[in-house]
Amino acid sequence: MTTTVTNRYEPVIGLETHVELGTRTKMFCGCPTAFGAEPNTQVCPVCLGLPGSLPVANKAAIEATIRIGLALNCSIASWCRFARKNYFYPDMPKNFQISQYDEPLCVDGYLDVEVDGATVRVGIERVHLEEDTGKTLHLGGAGRIHGATESLVDYNRAGIPLVEIVTKPVPGTGDRAPVVARAYVTELRDLIRSLGVSDVRMEQGSLRCDVNTSLNRPGEPWGTRTETKNVNSLRSVERAVRFEIIRQANLLESGGTVTQETRHFHEDTGDTTPGRSKETATDYRYFPEPDLVPLAPDTEWVEQLRAALPEMPAVHRRRLQQQWGLGDNEMQAVLNAGAVELIEATVAAGTTPEGARKWWLGELSRRANERGVELAEVGASPVHVAELQRLVEDGKLNDKLARTVLEGVLAGEGGPAEVMAARGLEVVSDTDALTRAVDEAIAANPDVAAKIRDGKVEAAGVLIGAIMKTTRGQADAKTVRELILARLSS
Ligand SMILES: [Zn+2]
Repeated sequence: MTTTVTNRYEPVIGLETHVELGTRTKMFCGCPTAFGAEPNTQVCPVCLGLPGSLPVANKAAIEATIRIGLALNCSIASWCRFARKNYFYPDMPKNFQISQYDEPLCVDGYLDVEVDGATVRVGIERVHLEEDTGKTLHLGGAGRIHGATESLVDYNRAGIPLVEIVTKPVPGTGDRAPVVARAYVTELRDLIRSLGVSDVRMEQGSLRCDVNTSLNRPGEPWGTRTETKNVNSLRSVERAVRFEIIRQANLLESGGTVTQETRHFHEDTGDTTPGRSKETATDYRYFPEPDLVPLAPDTEWVEQLRAALPEMPAVHRRRLQQQWGLGDNEMQAVLNAGAVELIEATVAAGTTPEGARKWWLGELSRRANERGVELAEVGASPVHVAELQRLVEDGKLNDKLARTVLEGVLAGEGGPAEVMAARGLEVVSDTDALTRAVDEAIAANPDVAAKIRDGKVEAAGVLIGAIMKTTRGQADAKTVRELILARLSS
């Protein structure tokens, strides 16, 4: 892509990731956090910021944040405070957000990310805890505030615990910068999922990502960075960084300068457009939150949490690679396709690693690419894939029929067995029916039959083809071949 560009410029990337924790209740009140409830049904005086209400910190959220920090090799503060971040926006009922400023709970860690067999260490600047805002819905104006006729606010999300994970700037990745950004978010997602503290679903917004990108000429100071918001899938992380590198390079090449600003990524076109010019910290008038006591996690608790951390995803993957008997390149292909957990779940549902890999890396990857969606969102579940592969292994479906069945599954017609029955797709191995089809084919192709009688066995392919056609691909080819040869060898 950017070979010519990155010859002249070095990209520096940075990622800010917000993770909604899966706690039962909100950060500072007892309201439930379930996704998708009727608007404004999960609210109370505290999360609506009504006068006289007082916040109380959620211990489960603090524990989850410390565990994320430990898994990211951070130091855990023995004493820190929440801070008020002041700004006005309709989706923020209090007109300030309780966050952390100069005293974050976790600092100075790292996450190792594998890209094409090499390890890139991404430094973690900080991990802090804050509360989410509500959601604003703009009607008319294609979902944007400009041109909207009405704006509606839903405060159900306001006050849900949110962990912000900020990387240190990552220089030196050259033209791999977009891929490194994607690999980092993927690894972070897997790590947080393995901790069981969030469902980390990008499409539901429980994992959200902002990417910072800047360019500088080799040997010169880092350039001005832009912050791209609304990056809602792993694929978009890569696309957004790539787009910004090319946009900024073209701008610099033509003698322009990069403006420090927030930009919005557009999923449909893959480009970014300017948002507001970036606020600086002073615009937010941070000060320590006076309604909350400081956080002082004691060492013993932190050490207990450290000792109880689960197997990290990188270690888990190495174990799976061994169990599945894959070489490094094969495992890399599985990783690149985002198929590790899908294959793991498919094997758990009762099929072989080989059978699972065939579907996820073959037909399903192809369809996911065609539709521009993540593999996990393609519409088939691991249970479906295991069932489909079993039908093939039991001889009820051949590969061609199985692909047709899969089409039905992806179209939402049900599980593989259901689709097979409803569409009448089962392989015909009933010998009587096949013998009739063989006899008809021999009668219709006397010259071919004569050749086979003369010992030209390869001519049987013509008859098999004819029979597959009349049975709409449902005949069991192996049985058909045996029947033809038996008929014509006497
Ligand atoms: Zn509440």
